[in-house]
Amino acid sequence: DLGEPLLTVRDLTVRYGGVVAVDGFSLDVPRGSIVGLIGPNGAGKTTAIDAISGFAVASGSVSLGGHSLDGLRPHQRIRAGLGRTFQAIELYGDLSVRENVVVGLTARARSHRQAQERLAETLDTLGLTALADRPAGELSQGQRQLVSIARALVGNPQVLLLDEPAGGLDTAESHWLGERLRDLRAAGVTILMVEHDMSLVLSLCDQITVLDFGTVIASGPPETIRTHPRVVEAYLGSA
Ligand code: ATP
Repeated sequence: DLGEPLLTVRDLTVRYGGVVAVDGFSLDVPRGSIVGLIGPNGAGKTTAIDAISGFAVASGSVSLGGHSLDGLRPHQRIRAGLGRTFQAIELYGDLSVRENVVVGLTARARSHRQAQERLAETLDTLGLTALADRPAGELSQGQRQLVSIARALVGNPQVLLLDEPAGGLDTAESHWLGERLRDLRAAGVTILMVEHDMSLVLSLCDQITVLDFGTVIASGPPETIRTHPRVVEAYLGSA
C-alpha cells in the first residue's frame, strides 16, 4: 500500500493567453512512490511540472509535507524540498560531471564537508562516480540525463520532479535509468515523472495519471491505466 500524500496538488490552472494549458489539475503523490504523468503532446504535462515548481503562474494550490508552497518562487520551492529536471538538459559542456552536479548544491547552505559527502553519495547512487572528472560535453544522452537528475537530487529533495528522464535514451539506457530510479525510491525519494516511454512508465510507476487538454482523464495503478478505454483512445492509440 502507498503512504500518505507527500505532494498535494489541488485545482491547478495555468493560462497562456487564450490557451488553458492546465485546467483544474489535482494530484496526490504518496510518500515513497513513483507517480507517472502521461498524456499526448501538448496535454499540459510540462506546464503542470512548471506550476508545481513555481516556474509557471498558476491558480490553485500545491503543498509539500503539509506546508503550502503557494506564492513561493522556484528557488524557495527548491529550499522547501522540491527538486526538478528540465526536458531540455542544460549542462556546462566544458565542466566536469562533478562540477555540473555541484551547481545543485548551492540551493542549500551546508558545511564544506557535508557538501562533499552528499556529492559523492549522489554520484554513487546514479552510477556516475567513474565519470566524475569527465567533461559533461563528452557524455552520451543517457549519461547527460543522469547528470541532470544528480543535479536535482544533490540538494536532497523530498520530491523529485523529472521531465522526460528517458528522452533520447535507447532501450538499454532507459532500462538502466529505470533501475536507478528504483534505487532512489528504495532510498526513500518520492518521484513525480513526466515520461513518454510507456514500457518504462508501466513497469516502474506505482500510480499513473493521464492528462489530456490539461485535465486528468484517468488515474490509477499501471494495470488499470494500461487498459483504460480513454487512455487507449487518447494516448496509446495515437502513440
Ligand atoms: P509534450 O509532451 O509535447 O512535452 P506537454 O504535455 O508537456 O507536451 P505542455 O508543454 O505543457 O504540454 O503544453 C501545454 C499547452 O500549453 C500547449 O498547448 C502549449 O502550446 C501551451 N504552452 C506551453 N507553454 C507555453 C508558453 N510558455 N506560452 C504559450 N503557450 C504555452
